[in-house]
Order: sequence, then structure tokens, then C-alpha cells
Amino acid sequence: MTYKLIAPDGTAYQSPTPGTLGGHRKLKIFGRLDCPSALRFIARGHYVKHRVFFADRTSAIAAGYRPCAKCLPNEYKVWKAQQTESSAQRWGLCCFNQSPQNLSKSLQKFGDLPKLPPAHVTARYVV
Ligand SMILES: [Zn+2]
Repeated sequence: MTYKLIAPDGTAYQSPTPGTLGGHRKLKIFGRLDCPSALRFIARGHYVKHRVFFADRTSAIAAGYRPCAKCLPNEYKVWKAQQTESSAQRWGLCCFNQSPQNLSKSLQKFGDLPKLPPAHVTARYVV
């Protein structure tokens, strides 16, 4: 018996051991196998044909999947902070007149995205 898992490069492969995490191929979300949110969808007959599995979270993240906010809240927070960091760097913007590095540190301290008024979204900071 082999199991079809998704490798870090996003391709499927056969593994002798079952995956520890499930995911949704279209939504690019991964979570625990017993995720209540996923199980609810599966019970309704959705999700199943898009269901994929991963050996571990490193593979899931490398394959471009994001953690489920419901069953992996801590991983989701980390992921969200990283998104903030990359978008801050992409925009070269700075809401506290800080470098993107300091900005992302501040955001990690707050633990969540600040709601930025449009006036603060300026491109004044040049990397
Ligand atoms: Zn979940």
C-alpha cells in the first residue's frame, strides 16, 4: 500500500507512509487531518476530489500551501506575518517610517496586521 503525497516542489509522489496533513489543491490551504472545517466540507461531499496530503508542514509550505486558520492558528499567524513582511518589501512602503525589516518586527510584536488607513500607505521608503 502506498499513499499519494505532495512533495515540496508541488508534484505528487507515492509514499510508503501516510501523510500527516491534508490540503485543498485549489484553495492551496493545508491543515490537520481532523480539521473540523475540512471535515464539514467532506461530510457535504465537497473537497474530496481536491484533497491532497503532505508528509509534514515543511513540504506543504514549500509547495505553496498556507496553513488553515481554524486548525493551525499558530502556523497561520506566522504565515500571515510573513505575508505582511513580503508585501511590505514589495511595496517599499512604511507605515511607521521604519524600514521593512523593523516594520515586520513591529507587526510580529502586534501579532496581527494593522488596519492601515490609505493615507499611511505611501511609497516614501526606498530600499
Ligand atoms: Zn483546518
